[in-house]
Amino acid sequence: MAEEPSEPHSIGAYRKAYEDGDSLLGFRSGCGFVTATWGLVCPRCGQRDLHVVRLSGRGTLAAFTVQTVPSDEFLNDAPYAYVVVELEEGGRITGWIEGTASEGALSIGAAVRWKPTYKPGVQFQLVGVASSDALGG
Ligand SMILES: [Zn+2]
Repeated sequence: MAEEPSEPHSIGAYRKAYEDGDSLLGFRSGCGFVTATWGLVCPRCGQRDLHVVRLSGRGTLAAFTVQTVPSDEFLNDAPYAYVVVELEEGGRITGWIEGTASEGALSIGAAVRWKPTYKPGVQFQLVGVASSDALGG
């Protein structure tokens, strides 16, 4: 007998939360594992006891690269940084940072926060940088 995950746990509800600029949602398993990646089972222990948690959206850069050849939906935003963010609550999430022309503009461990936007994907911005102009070159 399968145990149903807590609500809202559909991938549609998960995407709608950040697309609406409401919040980033994550999932905490009974074993304590936290992830921002949508799923139906805990990737660490395989249990289905995932509970939805509201993430702060704050974290640090764990990895990044500058994307200069984008897919259609990002045509007007290239170049931008494709980033992996280590979230404050634990777990990682992929996203992007607009206006990043070179990898020298970012550094591993730099503080970032989720930026609610009408644009696709999960967008982040550097904390303490007022304008994306500062990221150029
Ligand atoms: Zn687990």
